[in-house]
Amino acid sequence: MTQVKSPVILPKEDTALIQRAYRNLLKCMPMPLNAEDQHNIRAAFELAAKAHQEQRRKSGEPYILHPIEVARICVDEIGLGPTAVVCALLHDVVEDTDVSLKQIHDQFGKPVALIVDGLTKLDSLHDSESPQAENLTKVLRTMLSDVRVVLIKMADRLHNLRTIKSMPPHKQLKIAAETSTIYAPLAHRLGLYKIKTEFQDICLKITHPEDYHEIAEKLAQTKRAREQYIEAFKRPLQRALKKQLGCTIRIIGRPKSIYSIWSKIRTKQVDFEDIYDLFAIRIILEVSADREKVACWQVYAVVTDFYKPIPERLKDWITNPKANGYESLHTSVIGPQGRFVEVQIRSVRMDEIAERGFAAHWKYKGVRGIGHRANVFENWLNQVRDTLENVGSGSPVEFLADFQSNLFSEEVHVFTPKGEMKILPEGATALDFAFSIHSDVGTTCRAVRINNRVERISYKLQNGDQIQVITDKNQHPSTDWLQYVVTAKAKNRIRSALKEEKRRLAALGREILERKLQNLHKCPVEENADMLAHWFGFPNRLEFLSAIALEQVDLSGLKSFRADGTRLVEVEGEKAPPPSAEESRPADTSPAPKPLKQPGKADVFINGEPGSYYAYSFATCCNPVQGDPIFAYVGAKEGVKIHRTTCPNAAFLLANYEYRVLKAEWGAMVKADFVATILVTGIDDGPGVIQQITDKISSMGINIRSFSISGEGGYFEGRISLVVGNTDQLNQAIRALKNFKFVASVSRME
Ligand code: MN
Repeated sequence: MTQVKSPVILPKEDTALIQRAYRNLLKCMPMPLNAEDQHNIRAAFELAAKAHQEQRRKSGEPYILHPIEVARICVDEIGLGPTAVVCALLHDVVEDTDVSLKQIHDQFGKPVALIVDGLTKLDSLHDSESPQAENLTKVLRTMLSDVRVVLIKMADRLHNLRTIKSMPPHKQLKIAAETSTIYAPLAHRLGLYKIKTEFQDICLKITHPEDYHEIAEKLAQTKRAREQYIEAFKRPLQRALKKQLGCTIRIIGRPKSIYSIWSKIRTKQVDFEDIYDLFAIRIILEVSADREKVACWQVYAVVTDFYKPIPERLKDWITNPKANGYESLHTSVIGPQGRFVEVQIRSVRMDEIAERGFAAHWKYKGVRGIGHRANVFENWLNQVRDTLENVGSGSPVEFLADFQSNLFSEEVHVFTPKGEMKILPEGATALDFAFSIHSDVGTTCRAVRINNRVERISYKLQNGDQIQVITDKNQHPSTDWLQYVVTAKAKNRIRSALKEEKRRLAALGREILERKLQNLHKCPVEENADMLAHWFGFPNRLEFLSAIALEQVDLSGLKSFRADGTRLVEVEGEKAPPPSAEESRPADTSPAPKPLKQPGKADVFINGEPGSYYAYSFATCCNPVQGDPIFAYVGAKEGVKIHRTTCPNAAFLLANYEYRVLKAEWGAMVKADFVATILVTGIDDGPGVIQQITDKISSMGINIRSFSISGEGGYFEGRISLVVGNTDQLNQAIRALKNFKFVASVSRME
């Protein structure tokens, strides 16, 4: 049996190793350092070296090499300054050695002590078995005291991951899990893209080693071909860019990370060979801050002169930077051999932020952004603060989910009616938007107009949407609202509004019950409420009392009791089954769907059920045609009507009777005739006009139900009612009429 021992390094070699690492760290620091910083860094190094003297890492190296390397990462890869270096050097001292926090406070001052304290607390979370939600809250809370805590922690984690090989496999898996749920998303959110990518790659290597090596191998095999392609792509651009811009430009081909290739293979179910965008072309300009936006667009113009762009892929993160400070102009073009190539255009400054995070540029270098960029990071920290303040209202699982969807997700940029931009997490709805304006706007939100169209409050926001919230002071949040929102703010406000509402109802219900109990049994509520709640089938007293207020409880059941002192006792033999809350709910609040026809092929689905269940008809105010966006409205007298979402009445119906509105969708194509009226205007240049229009429409196989025309002075206005099968056919007719020279406009009438 042979035992593998970790190599023992001789003290002399140790010293040389340590000195070399330390000198290397100093070399990375932006020079010149002032005397105080120089002194502090030296002192921190000496204190840490002495404190860790006896310790070795799992790999056998002297322990002090770890804090030195963490400090180097802070400077080199995150762009932090001298204070962070001091803290990084000291980051494991309090946790692992005899040095106390007070000692650090006395020698290095309060800011350093605060950061080291934060790092020590974060460290204690390593081995703890506490749930992830708790860990995450801890990380975020410390981050709020000073962002550097988390940034140094990132460097610490990065070095530990880079050297993870010496850890036992089960520890590796645990660290990988924690890294991918907490640190990788956090790195993303802090804009530390390079570090995030490395986190993900190392985690993948731990959790899926075979996949990792297979992709790495294939990337290596295709490297030459890729480089040749990038060269071919660059060649025509270089001269033109130089001529047009007159500044230094670097064009690089950047391969996608192994993790991102892997997740694409997974989610898109494709082979490595089928992924066309294994790399992106990055064009980096050396240009002054005031010219960078113009210059980037100039580059865009040159690139698209040579390669055809795909307009949908154009993303302008320069005009609207991401909330983590990321700025860049992205597009995809069709490159040589007809392949899609992603192109990223940015200045050196933007590239720096993209690689090392906004933090580097934020407070500590004294560099301020321009205009709205200035507080891009602060905004996010406020959001974190806001979310943390509301912790405790939900379960830890809810909290983790809220966080992931809010603070870690991509975002959408939308606008208020006044053109003010709001940034919300991807997947946010119109209701989230309402809450982001003000909680009162959220809780009283009745309906919304998106780009002037009435939409449901659960509408998922798209980039560029303009949103107008219609409020009504009589509106109250309901439990379904929780499903319509993703932001933590909206969720918390809805939950607390619901609780408040329930408490208000419960107080009312209590009064009602009190009166009944006094009249019937002369006994108090307090002693009997829990028992009665249980007897009537409610989970607790709050639910029971509020249901009473909503008249959802048949209190005649109280007759099955007699009073025994202050307590009620059930009378034996008289027990009738307690009425369930469902059955006694008043019928008029939600119309019960009655099957009227046999379900078969439905042309419309209402609330996911065949429309025939509802005996619906089409509203004559807007005449929906198959293909139009629609909703169903449960009328008081006329039954269920299908309206178009653009119907002029829709806004009023949605605003005043939202509870009567049901979701409606078109079913599979079923032959049906719809009437749609179009308005045609134009120049009346003779008696042939009507003839030509009707001939055209008839030739398309469309019947005309009515045609009225009026006009004067050579101008005509015609109203034509057409019988069409669907919106496609209608739009064909509209396009065809527009082609007539004498026609000025054709539009569908609302
Ligand atoms: Mn450490």
